[in-house]
Amino acid sequence: MIQTCDAPVKPKELFSMIVVMERGATPEQIQHMVERVEGLGLKSHVINGTERTVIAAIGEKREQTKESLESGAGVAEVMPILAPYKVASREVKPEPTEVVAGSLRIGAGTIGVISGPCSVEDEEQLISTARAVKAAGATGLRGGAFKPRTSPYSFQGLKEEGLKLLAAAREETGLAVVTEVMSTDDVDLVAKYADVLQVGARNMQNYRLLEAVGQIDRAVLLKRGASATIDELLLAAEYILNEGNPNVILCERGIRTFESHTRFTLPLATVPYLHHKTHLPVVVDPSHGTGHTYLVPDMAAAAVAAGADGLIVEVHPEPEAALSDGYQSMTFDQHDKMMDRCAKIAAAIDMQLAAR
Ligand code: PEP
Ligand code: MN
Repeated sequence: MIQTCDAPVKPKELFSMIVVMERGATPEQIQHMVERVEGLGLKSHVINGTERTVIAAIGEKREQTKESLESGAGVAEVMPILAPYKVASREVKPEPTEVVAGSLRIGAGTIGVISGPCSVEDEEQLISTARAVKAAGATGLRGGAFKPRTSPYSFQGLKEEGLKLLAAAREETGLAVVTEVMSTDDVDLVAKYADVLQVGARNMQNYRLLEAVGQIDRAVLLKRGASATIDELLLAAEYILNEGNPNVILCERGIRTFESHTRFTLPLATVPYLHHKTHLPVVVDPSHGTGHTYLVPDMAAAAVAAGADGLIVEVHPEPEAALSDGYQSMTFDQHDKMMDRCAKIAAAIDMQLAAR
């Protein structure tokens, strides 16, 4: 029989619970519970906390699932996950997640700084920037090789050539490479050269791309869409986590509002709010968030004061000549001063600005 709008198919109910293991649960008991969760047709995510291990169990609801899991050996309790996002939520993992990718450490008290040009333009531009930002204490090098441009006539990036230049800059400076991937077709190529794959604001809700980066062995920097709510950002992160990649860094890069004095509006309350809701580290991008170089150092300092786990900023040897986003890029000298200021603020709130 053909289903009509009058007779909708009832959606399946979601089962999402955490199986909290006892403090002294053995690895065998944990493994046994993972098998029981999967035997019930649910997906399991093991989260090893400092105090206890929990297993998130997510899938289609069936009768008696909770009771069946509660009876397992070594299980302390089975509790529902109330947030719409599951693996991303603080309910599942109270301790903050630290993401480590090469020289870049972000989260759990360490502030990582990812600095570099908006786009990779040529060898000299990239390597001189990499050397300068490294000397100032940055731990990651940014630079787009695949650029999402509003106009098809604007510079689109050097593609694989740009990725090779980024890898060469890492070779010389040791800086971890953070670069954008725009399409599922390019995930393997970008992952071959990068330490962290950036999913840009325009792709935050490209769910096939989120799934693809969830399946690789590289950290992901997920930027908030310009019109996305925080729940939508967290649900986008959930797509990546759900595929088994735990190394997700969230990025507030500003949202579109009625305000026009800045390119986007940069809401810093996002930082403490996300810290309440998720264990994932939060990075702030004051370059895209303001769109004006002269506003970037102040907002970088404010982001550190608000508790951000990292910064991502645009730096160019000659901003006026940049092929993209020059008007929001710092010179080396402006970046040095920003770093000095952020290091002082970090120290004042018992955080450590990496490489300082
Ligand atoms: C960028 O980092 O250069 C970029 C394009 O950022 P966003 O996706 O936040 O616009
Ligand atoms: Mn840019």
